[in-house]
Amino acid sequence: MAQTTIDGVTKRFDSGDDTIVAVDDLSIDIRDGEFLVLVGPSGCGKSTTLRTIAGLETVSEGNIYIGDRDVTDVKPKDRDIAMVFQNYALYPQKTVAGNMRFGLKMTTDLDDEEITRRVEEAAELLDISELLDRRPRALSGGQQQRVALGRAIVRDPAVFLMDEPLSNLDAKLRTQMRTELQELHDELEATTVYVTHDQTEAMTMGDRIAVLAGGELQQVGTPMEMYYEPANEFVATFIGSPSMNILEATFDGENIQLPGFTYEPTDAQREALDRDLRGDSLTLGIRPEDVVLTEEPGPRTTEFTASIVEPMGNENVLHLDHELGEVVATVAGGQRVREGDRVRVTLPADHVHAFDGETGQTVF
Ligand code: ATP
Repeated sequence: MAQTTIDGVTKRFDSGDDTIVAVDDLSIDIRDGEFLVLVGPSGCGKSTTLRTIAGLETVSEGNIYIGDRDVTDVKPKDRDIAMVFQNYALYPQKTVAGNMRFGLKMTTDLDDEEITRRVEEAAELLDISELLDRRPRALSGGQQQRVALGRAIVRDPAVFLMDEPLSNLDAKLRTQMRTELQELHDELEATTVYVTHDQTEAMTMGDRIAVLAGGELQQVGTPMEMYYEPANEFVATFIGSPSMNILEATFDGENIQLPGFTYEPTDAQREALDRDLRGDSLTLGIRPEDVVLTEEPGPRTTEFTASIVEPMGNENVLHLDHELGEVVATVAGGQRVREGDRVRVTLPADHVHAFDGETGQTVF
């Protein structure tokens, strides 16, 4: 059992007169065998959270459990974890095999034969068997990253902790390594906590994703839940590319009013507004891929001017201007729109989100 629990963890740093709350009362249950991605903007507390699981930072409040064990006060080397860093942290003077053996030698009493067996097995899994006698400087970035992974794998830990392990690789290699890491996870079925600031990486790799902002958990869920049912405006705009369009509006008790446009809510949406909206201000959200170009006038339909058209081949990204603000739309490449064209746009009710103007919480 390598279920890992972050239970009410707060981490404060004192810097001079200031206290920085890097992690604020965070609780997440990471399931046995799960690949959980911690994602959020720079400074949101992802790395600090990972480091508290590893034991590289003490917690100010709360507890960390690995399996059934409370490890809050346990030294990093005794937590049964292995960490993979962004900068690989390989020993330059040791060979690949030496790098992979070293951690095992220091922290376990395995005999040489068993260590060799594990190193060879991991090398085979990672396709680096031919590189075992080389030194790190004679390896490409991708190969170095595999060695760093190998060094973690040989330890056969209860939990893998990875801090932006792919961010030093070029875009193509990063995409390839994402797939490889997933295949590796499928094979090893080891609980993994993976930190990234890249929402695409989170969406493609995570069994579940935890979004952090300002040290606080915003939402934890599957990629589909985060995309279709964001808990608040922050998650809605953080997940998805290009970002969800956000339009400021007010609710008059009947309809949602935007500058130059009235959005007629469905009955269910009106009910949600009556029940959950605190004041009368809200924001409407619509993803670029959900904006529909239409010929016919209708409810939830209005005219925009195309200000910028970015052809991407299979699709076009349109920047559409209106009194209510700019809306970005992605439409099929076959739909020909030129800059300056007037286009009629529908915001389909089943794809429109609404967030409370005061709290940012999802209303519908
Ligand atoms: P990034 O993606 O930029 O690495 P992050 O989400 O991993 O960011 P953290 O590194 O966890 O964020 O930092 C969270 C907050 O805690 C930041 O405001 C950071 O400046 C602060 N912080 C982190 N480590 C320390 C430290 N040792 N002393 C003081 N403040 C720190």
